[in-house]
Amino acid sequence: MQDKSDIWILGGGISGLSTAILLQQAGYKTSILSDLNFDVPTNYAMASAYPHNLQIQNLDQISEDSQNLFAKLAQNARSGLLIHRIYEVFEQEPELAPLGDKRMQFQTFDGPVEKLKMTIKPPFRTGATYLYGYTFKTYFADMPVYMDFLWDWYETLGGLLVHKKVTPEIIKEASGKIVINCLGLGSLKVFEDKSPLNVVRGKQVLVPKAPIITGAENIPMAYNYTPSADVFSRADGNPEYVHFFSRNDGWLLGQTREPGSLDQAGKWVGDAVKGEEVMVGGVFIPEPILSLNNDLLKNWVGYDLKSKQTQMQGRVGLRYYRDSQNSGVRLELENIDGVSCVHNYGHGGSGITMSWGCAKRCVDLVNSMTGKFSNLSAVKNENF
Ligand SMILES: Cc1cc2nc3c(=O)[nH]c(=O)nc-3n(C[C@H](O)[C@H](O)[C@H](O)COP(=O)(O)OP(=O)(O)OC[C@H]3O[C@@H](n4cnc5c(N)ncnc54)[C@H](O)[C@@H]3O)c2cc1C
Repeated sequence: MQDKSDIWILGGGISGLSTAILLQQAGYKTSILSDLNFDVPTNYAMASAYPHNLQIQNLDQISEDSQNLFAKLAQNARSGLLIHRIYEVFEQEPELAPLGDKRMQFQTFDGPVEKLKMTIKPPFRTGATYLYGYTFKTYFADMPVYMDFLWDWYETLGGLLVHKKVTPEIIKEASGKIVINCLGLGSLKVFEDKSPLNVVRGKQVLVPKAPIITGAENIPMAYNYTPSADVFSRADGNPEYVHFFSRNDGWLLGQTREPGSLDQAGKWVGDAVKGEEVMVGGVFIPEPILSLNNDLLKNWVGYDLKSKQTQMQGRVGLRYYRDSQNSGVRLELENIDGVSCVHNYGHGGSGITMSWGCAKRCVDLVNSMTGKFSNLSAVKNENF
């Protein structure tokens, strides 16, 4: 394959696209090579983007760089990058919120439901009497809108998209170029990596065309709600939580966090949540994702999901955590048969949240080879 780019970015998910945009901004000529398979995590992310814990080198810096860029994007009404008010609610006392001090307007609460209904106004399950939790504001990427916006931005910057199935032959084909590997789980078929993997399944439901739910601040509201374990529980007996986010394409009701791996055929195997399942649009979904969310939504904002049942779509996504107990996300330079390859994959359930910080690190690694300086500070609103 012949083209005029200096850099090939493998993969057109959130990691590839964010990295490609920053490289174009930094003055490189790039092409994204991707098969653009729909069935990849980027298309199932909700995607909240508040500081998450993730096994990654320089977590604080990567998180901060990402938050800074989200702040700029949130000023652009077309970007699909919004600010949501989120409630994380628990029926048992939770541990301290990870990175709570880094979340926007973070506030903890606890109290009898009857009292909280008048003050914090969190979602609550019928029968729950006492709740704990936090509320804060968070960046939120309305993924279908956000991804379209990023593709347009990349094209405006002169980036190219090449539809291609990438194989291990890519290293020979890339001779003379720099390669950035953002293939997610696809990396494992193209590059050597013996690190352990944890593939966490997420079952969710899309309720198309449901309205955006806003609160007193006139911004969209969302929740994560952890009931007692007898209502919804993981294979290990701990409570499983449900989410609610409203987006332009409808509501996302989620979603499981089922640890597992892939078998020889690439099929997910692991520890499914306990309890009954129901068929939603041809996909088996844990029943509490519907019944618990329905109860919470009725109590919270007066919506009944039953009227929307026929349009609902059940969906299943996989979050690939690379080496989650040790080196974590692979964000490093490797020389493969004389070709410089920067890896950027294995972000688990935080790939959107960490996307810009990881992309910036890729630019820094490329700059360290080419002798340029990082150009992230040059990313301004006028450039969108
Ligand atoms: C249910 C669910 C909910 C989530 N919610 C959130 C959230 O709220 N916040 C958050 O931050 N993160 C969330 N995540 C995680 C996030 O979606 C991922 O971390 C992120 O999307 C990973 O992006 P990626 O670009 O690295 O990989 P991917 O999304 O896997 O993209 C890989 C790209 O490479 C291409 N590709 C792969 N192999 C080949 C090949 N051989 N040839 C050509 N192309 C190839 C694919 O087509 C795709 O374009 C969620 C994930 C799931 C499953």
